[in-house]
Amino acid sequence: MISKKDIRSLNEQEFKDILILNSFKPFRANQIFHWLWKKSVYSFYEMTNLPDRLIEFLDKNFIINNIKIHKTQKSTDGTIKYAIELHDGFIVECVLIPTKNRITACVSSQVGCSLNCKFCATARLKRMRNLKADEIYDQVVLISKQAREFFNKPLTNIVFMGMGEPLMNYKNVVKSIDKISSKSGLGMSPKRIVVSTSGVPKMIRKIADDNVKFKLAVSLHSAVNEVRTSIMPFNEKMNLDELSESLQYWYTKTKNIITFEYVVWKGVNDKIEDIKALVKFCKKVPSKVNLIQYNSIDDPNFVQAPKSILDNYIQLLESNKIKATIRKSRGQDIDAACGQLANKS
Ligand code: SAH
Repeated sequence: MISKKDIRSLNEQEFKDILILNSFKPFRANQIFHWLWKKSVYSFYEMTNLPDRLIEFLDKNFIINNIKIHKTQKSTDGTIKYAIELHDGFIVECVLIPTKNRITACVSSQVGCSLNCKFCATARLKRMRNLKADEIYDQVVLISKQAREFFNKPLTNIVFMGMGEPLMNYKNVVKSIDKISSKSGLGMSPKRIVVSTSGVPKMIRKIADDNVKFKLAVSLHSAVNEVRTSIMPFNEKMNLDELSESLQYWYTKTKNIITFEYVVWKGVNDKIEDIKALVKFCKKVPSKVNLIQYNSIDDPNFVQAPKSILDNYIQLLESNKIKATIRKSRGQDIDAACGQLANKS
């Protein structure tokens, strides 16, 4: 048996060529892509404006991979976590986060993760595979539909802060963002999309060169090399100097300020030297700091520092004219918060 081709792995031009080769009219490609991306249909038989002969040709030669909700969990704060089953049985998680003025979708970019951040639950899973662009796109579509259904509100923001390291699956991430932001897809502004990275300098330079329009967040957690390496071991190879230089390059090219995500743990990065190092690091490139709450993954080495330490951070950052906020965590009771996505289901 010949295996059918995943139709959404093709771009419109490639698909047009196939149509022509099989004596179908090339304009059909546009109609079909409209069904696939704009209307998100999962069966060729729903494409009601196509001739039967073409529908049969499509059904015989192509598949439309789709994602399914495997499990739903609702938090007391309104956050909803979805375990999503992919066509090959792997499960990833995505999260719908409702706040007063926003509906945010937090999406995954890989099954598991290849990095080994000590404080992150996803790191305990190995990286199984990258997600395809349509699998990322479909998470956004799914959350957008759920937002309408449960909150009667449109999706306003997208964050790549689910499972995986987006810049290690750059091609598919960018392709999904193109579809999310293009008129032939969801038509959302790329300014409402944040890609969060653990900080891969080579890739940060690449996205700067590619003139991307999304916003960038970097999971910093320490501006001291030894400390960062101890909690994010890949830092040994791509150290803070390299990271900083790549971020300066990003800023020169894009003029977009960077958000540093930062958790403060007792005995890890709660000393005055840690705060001073962060201030120094932030001064090298226009940036702001989000102090995020630690979400426990049951490791005694990591305990959230008290509010007084966070206040020290805020004070020293602000007195150096660096914007800093303390971000509340959402969906903790269902393990849907940052760093807690690990397929417990
Ligand atoms: N790999 C990407 C995106 C996924 S993680 C990245 O590292 O940015 C999204 C954010 O959650 C990152 O800032 C990450 O450092 C943070 N995070 C991971 N584990 C966490 C935990 N247990 N508590 C709070 N934040 C955590």
